[in-house]
Amino acid sequence: MNAEIICIGTELLLGHTVDTNSAYLARELAELGINLFHKSTVGDNLNRIVSLLRQAWNRSDVLILSGGLGPTQDDLTREAVAELLGEPLEFREEAWEEILSYFRKTGRSLPESNRRQAMFPASARMLSNRLGTAPGLFVECNGKYLFAFPGVPRELIGLWEEHGRPFLKRLLSETGHPVLTSKMIRMIGIGESAMEERVMDLIQNQTNPTIAPYVGKGDVLLRITARGNSEAENHRRIDEMYHRVQERLGEYIYGTDEETLEEVIGRQLTAKGWTLATAESCTGGLIGHRLTLVPGSSAYYLGGVVSYSNRLKTDLLQVPESILQEYGAVSEETARAMAEGVRLITGADVGIGVTGIAGPDGGTEMKPVGLVYYSVALSDKTVVEHRIFPYDRSGNKEAAAQAVLTLLWKMLR
Ligand code: AMP
Ligand code: MG
Repeated sequence: MNAEIICIGTELLLGHTVDTNSAYLARELAELGINLFHKSTVGDNLNRIVSLLRQAWNRSDVLILSGGLGPTQDDLTREAVAELLGEPLEFREEAWEEILSYFRKTGRSLPESNRRQAMFPASARMLSNRLGTAPGLFVECNGKYLFAFPGVPRELIGLWEEHGRPFLKRLLSETGHPVLTSKMIRMIGIGESAMEERVMDLIQNQTNPTIAPYVGKGDVLLRITARGNSEAENHRRIDEMYHRVQERLGEYIYGTDEETLEEVIGRQLTAKGWTLATAESCTGGLIGHRLTLVPGSSAYYLGGVVSYSNRLKTDLLQVPESILQEYGAVSEETARAMAEGVRLITGADVGIGVTGIAGPDGGTEMKPVGLVYYSVALSDKTVVEHRIFPYDRSGNKEAAAQAVLTLLWKMLR
């Protein structure tokens, strides 16, 4: 079975909207083991949409359309699908009822133009959309399938999860396709090539499961994918490979699949019953932001100080004036004093301090742009590390936050 994605919208061709939908759908199709050979974008023009649909309908078994289901005159997906099928558009009372009830629920009045969204090609089924006004549509014709989803990413994902994915999963198993299952292993504190070297033989001798390295955002990843007759069989294969990877790279593995480093740190702190406070200079609160992305983080994260100026470092965090004078604000000594200071003033079990030069200016020969000192203070010891990052300002801030959280994770382990 092979699929094809078609994104509809002139704003995509102009680069005003970044097409995230096709990347999302491509990942989802890969996860299902469905081949994706074509992915295209077309503007809001009926003739061009129809001619692309004809081409795609000829060469692919499953068409997934994104966009063009809105209420305005430039949203032409319904018309184009009707023309592809050679069918008239008809008004669907059930769809209209749903659109009305969505508007009532959100307390808005309904523009007349929304009636267009209740028009469907005669043989199309409506896909209910609980997250917006545009229902999706589904067509089955001569062993081929067409889904059209609204362009708003949240709505597209909702409709895909509710209708698209379960339908294709069922179809695959009914037609005897093997089941694909995968697991992502997430690592920090090791580079991609060093990681790959340690599992090179596994990669070279892979059959089923396969393993593939990826570079993440601040982490490196290994994806294990198994193909078999059932999920259970695949999980057995994956677990076996996971253990072999663990033997070689266990010290770097912090999580799997969608787990984030801040979630894992939250669990580490919870298990120890410890609290955490942060003192951030160059990261400007980024670490606090990441920690508070985790639901329930108030149980262990007390809060932090964004001590950008020297005065806040001395007055609030009790960093000795003499340290700033002698070693400077970006120094091992200051990072240590910030971590220990915030730990003391808040009464937290763990304190974090980070200070650096985010750039693009402010570097010297001794202290170049990208230099970051960071520290984690526990009751019985304080560790300080430093790195020099080569990125732009925001890249350096992100890398610094990731480095601090990596050190924290290691020390809590
Ligand atoms: P539409 O369904 O064409 O009315 O699209 C509604 C909105 O969804 C557009 O204004 C875009 O902001 C967004 N959108 C459309 N297509 C995509 C896409 N492929 N990826 C991400 N966002 C999109
Ligand atoms: Mg549009």
